[in-house]
Amino acid sequence: MPKSRAYGGLDAFRILAALLVVAIHISPLTTYSAAGDFFLTRCLAQVAVPFFFMVTGHFVLGQVLEGKGTFAPLGRQVRKILLLYLVAVVLYLPIGWYAGHYQDLRLLDGVRLLVFDGTFYHLWYFPACAMGLLVVYGLSRVFRGRGLWVAVGVLYGIALLGDSYYGLTTQIAPLASLYEAGFHLFSYTRNGLFMAPLFLLLGAQMGKRGPAPLPWAAGLGLALSLALMTGEGFLLRHLGLQRHDSMYLLLPLVMCFLYRLLLAWPAKAPAACRTLSTWVYILHPAMLVVLRGGAKVVGLTEILVGNSLVQYLMVCLLSFLTAGVVTWVLGRLRPQVPQLGRAWVQLDRAALIHNVAALRALLPPGCQLMPAVKADAYGHGALPVARILQGEGVSAFCVACLSEGIQLRKGGIRGEILILGYTHPDQFPLLRRYRLSQTVVDAAYARQLAAYGRPLSVHLAVDTGMHRLGEASGHLEEIRQIFALPSLRIQGIYTHLCTADGTTSRDQAYVHRQAQAFRELLERLQNQGIALPKVHLLASHGLLNYPDLGGDYARVGIALYGLLSTREDRNLAAPDLRPVLSLRARVASVKTLSPGCAAGYGLAFVAQRPTKVAVLAIGYADGLPRTLTGGQVLLHGCRAPIVGRICMDQTLVDVTEIPAVDPGDVAVLLGTSGQETITAYDLAQQAGTITNEILSRLGPRLERIVR
Ligand SMILES: *Cc1c(COP(=O)(O)O)cnc(C)c1O
Repeated sequence: MPKSRAYGGLDAFRILAALLVVAIHISPLTTYSAAGDFFLTRCLAQVAVPFFFMVTGHFVLGQVLEGKGTFAPLGRQVRKILLLYLVAVVLYLPIGWYAGHYQDLRLLDGVRLLVFDGTFYHLWYFPACAMGLLVVYGLSRVFRGRGLWVAVGVLYGIALLGDSYYGLTTQIAPLASLYEAGFHLFSYTRNGLFMAPLFLLLGAQMGKRGPAPLPWAAGLGLALSLALMTGEGFLLRHLGLQRHDSMYLLLPLVMCFLYRLLLAWPAKAPAACRTLSTWVYILHPAMLVVLRGGAKVVGLTEILVGNSLVQYLMVCLLSFLTAGVVTWVLGRLRPQVPQLGRAWVQLDRAALIHNVAALRALLPPGCQLMPAVKADAYGHGALPVARILQGEGVSAFCVACLSEGIQLRKGGIRGEILILGYTHPDQFPLLRRYRLSQTVVDAAYARQLAAYGRPLSVHLAVDTGMHRLGEASGHLEEIRQIFALPSLRIQGIYTHLCTADGTTSRDQAYVHRQAQAFRELLERLQNQGIALPKVHLLASHGLLNYPDLGGDYARVGIALYGLLSTREDRNLAAPDLRPVLSLRARVASVKTLSPGCAAGYGLAFVAQRPTKVAVLAIGYADGLPRTLTGGQVLLHGCRAPIVGRICMDQTLVDVTEIPAVDPGDVAVLLGTSGQETITAYDLAQQAGTITNEILSRLGPRLERIVR
């Protein structure tokens, strides 16, 4: 599972799920109420194990089933699960032995225990998870799409008929004898063959769909389905149909609501929850043994074991303590892979949050930020940036293309995501799957969107004079027809200004012409009885210079990152914006050139004196413009000139004047070191471009670190 905060809800729930698993095995309420305990452990707590299956399905099966992945990641996960199982088997061998679980064990019993039941009662989960993954993978090779769902559904049906609904099975003699035969091989149908596949696949599916768009609705669905499932449980219990109680007909529905709700839950939970919950799961039966032994020794059996609730709480306490120790020890043992290896982009979280506040202060009334996080958030890293923004209450984003939108959704970003550019009709299904809004680039494209047939959420681009995307603002009839298309859900209408950064009177006049054309169109549409969706026209320079033009959204890009396009930009408003990004790279090697010695491609640099050269592990493939001749970097707070031609992966700098430069030292290519600063303006000026281009070209090969 990726190390990210976006799955905080899942991580937090792991702890709760571990507590529920302990409850299933200890029945904490038996001392007080049999029905209460049935509700807690046989209904409510039955979400715990399917939840763990779903998380595995989400993070392991997801990619594999999309057809992109090969078997390899799945194979790795299966190996990991089996290794953990092996450790647990060995751990419980003495206890199982003492309890007489392995007496008179025949070969078939051994297979049953190892492959299906688990060698100790709770350990069935591990072989089930591994086998379930393999079963789903195998089925996915044979069945596609709906067929795969039918296949795992049938398996789940088989599982139900051997579990909560076994009473029905026994009514049909041939079926009953089939199950009887099966039960020689496995004691329960809650195993990797029948139960796990459905939940693994559900996890993969729910993960793909992302967080619930309306958390309250998912919460309501969860409450209702859980209530119904509880009814189902009590009914089956009343009718005496249950052979076992791991599965209900309604359990998959409950799990769908629960999982999407958890994806939407913005909990902050440390990644250590994952290891912790696993070890609570593994260790709690041992802690029960420890508790019973300990209670006997100190003569407190009646209180500590006699009361089911006290016993439960004690086992939880002991389990979390020991699991905590194991987690800590494992954390120490695991080699910490150091980040900041070669070259990286470092984000200043505080600066970004500051800029959000500074720009919000400029927003016209009723207007919200709709940050542009296209081009990997102008090279900053789309996900880290969008997550910080989401944490600041931003609920609408714009991106340039489909893949950028999908990346955000998969990373747990909620709210509106508008694609500003073109999406090919073959890819329209993905717009729906990831709940993305598409820009209508002109009237012909609107008809293509409508021809898709199923509802699509869109914003209508209007061309008011930039002559890039958008239906011409003068084409009232065409635009009216777009509004009449039945399957388009038009959420917004917008235009883009092309001279908002200019200071000449010609530039200003053009902005007003564009704004006027837009306003007239909106009025005409309203006069035709069309209710206007969200309206927007301001980007960074628009907001800084023409806030009075208003709108429901401001699509702010470059300013959010603390910059204007060029140093010379003059704006009406000059908020205190702070650059968010710095770019750093390690020194790979240091060497000395004697006078006359040349270096780099084309021998473009010739040493005029004994010259110490540091080789930086960053090049134009990382987005450093090759035209940065005459540029500088910072090392130990000093400026070092870039020499020779920038290579794809390396850059040479002259460090003759800088004492003690060693391999591994960090050079700053953009940002501050000591008293010195290199800005994106400097790079843009040297490279003959604007900051937007410098930043957006910083490549995916760079690590992204938030500080
Ligand atoms: C890129 C883009 C923006 C953001 O522009 P900035 O100048 O970086 O604020 C806004 N709207 C559209 C249509 C864009 O393409």
